[in-house]
Amino acid sequence: MKQAIILAGGMGTRLKARLGDLPKPMIPICGRPLLRHQIELAQRHGFDTITLFVCYRPDLIQKELGDGSQWGVRLRYVVEKEPLGTAGAVLAGWEELQESFVVLYGDTFVNLDLTRLTQAHLAAGADATLVLHPNNHPFDSDLVECTSEGWVSTFHNRPHPPGRYYQNLVNAGLYVLNRKALKPFRAWVKEGKPGIIDFGKDVFPELLRNGGRVLGYNTPEYIKDIGTPERYDKVCAEVANGVAERSAYGTPAPAVFLDRDGTLNKEADGLRSIDELELLPTVCEAVQLLNRSGFRVVITTNQPVIAKGFVSEEELHQIHNKLESLLGLEHAFVDRIYHCPHHPDGGFPGERAELKSVCDCRKPAPGMLLKAAKDLDLDLKRSWMVGDTTVDMQCARNAGVRPLLVETGHGGRDGRFPAQPEARFSTLLEAAQFIVEQSISPKTP
Ligand SMILES: [Zn+2]
Repeated sequence: MKQAIILAGGMGTRLKARLGDLPKPMIPICGRPLLRHQIELAQRHGFDTITLFVCYRPDLIQKELGDGSQWGVRLRYVVEKEPLGTAGAVLAGWEELQESFVVLYGDTFVNLDLTRLTQAHLAAGADATLVLHPNNHPFDSDLVECTSEGWVSTFHNRPHPPGRYYQNLVNAGLYVLNRKALKPFRAWVKEGKPGIIDFGKDVFPELLRNGGRVLGYNTPEYIKDIGTPERYDKVCAEVANGVAERSAYGTPAPAVFLDRDGTLNKEADGLRSIDELELLPTVCEAVQLLNRSGFRVVITTNQPVIAKGFVSEEELHQIHNKLESLLGLEHAFVDRIYHCPHHPDGGFPGERAELKSVCDCRKPAPGMLLKAAKDLDLDLKRSWMVGDTTVDMQCARNAGVRPLLVETGHGGRDGRFPAQPEARFSTLLEAAQFIVEQSISPKTP
């Protein structure tokens, strides 16, 4: 038995012009109610019990969807008399909850591999798993901080203090939860805790404070809110043109791998301090263009400064938080950052002996790209690598992706490897424009 819950209580006040009298989760996406899309997604991933928490116009929803027999699933309805908040509704419907279940919001369009998500939850032994993703406005979003192992460590709600940098990770509004982990919160409902109880604002922070194991599941798959007319129209367009369909794991996606120093930010000869990180002109525009054009954007960077003991993992994390924040200020984001902390030559004072090794991730070895391909379901044949050194060009060839050189940073003058780029450009933006043109009408450079 596998249970999915859909929080379908919303009225959709802001969507009145598109909705008329329909409740928000009934809004048509390409001619079919949003709830139908969600039920079919859950059904495809083997969920046999789907419980809808409804509030506004439950009659219309039940009339449309019935008992679920048209999909071969069991549809259950829990009617809230008054809005209790996302968690409040679920806690009030306690008797309906199975041991663990997936929670979908009735105002998001989702195309995501729910099987892989629930497997990650089970494999990690999590109490709760939160689907996270970067967005294009992290500066005014509530952000989630994770440990390097992927456990949620802190919630940073907006407004963010000036001068602090956080990873661009946002709660996407899709969870896997264990009923047992919610038990302490049942009392809130039984005691008649007044007002709205929300998963994001109330339950998850408290769960963390109580030592709960909350996993962050960072994914580039498709989850978008339809809560305003602009967002709704955008989702409709992306469902119609196949973007939403292609964004889920199971359909390998093209990526653009970006080198860091000399490609995105000014070359600083082994950048050691966060203050040295400065973006090159127009790189935000370049990344934004790739974000919009269906590419997953992945940074791969050799960081031998870690093995040499010049920079700690925590300091590197902060440097990358700054990088993500600067990109985010210009509405650009990266899907993942991989770094190689190793260095082959030992014998220096202060070095970390355990990282002094020949590894398969230090570029030009293809390890980081191959790992990304597995983690993010990438199609390497349709992918690109942009960098400023022959190391990047050789790495691209070794991984089977197409190499492009930028004339920023070292500009290819390092002369360490024989691999040649397919083309060279004066900026990352020009390279990105070339990549997008090639994906529309490929021609040999
Ligand atoms: Zn390595």
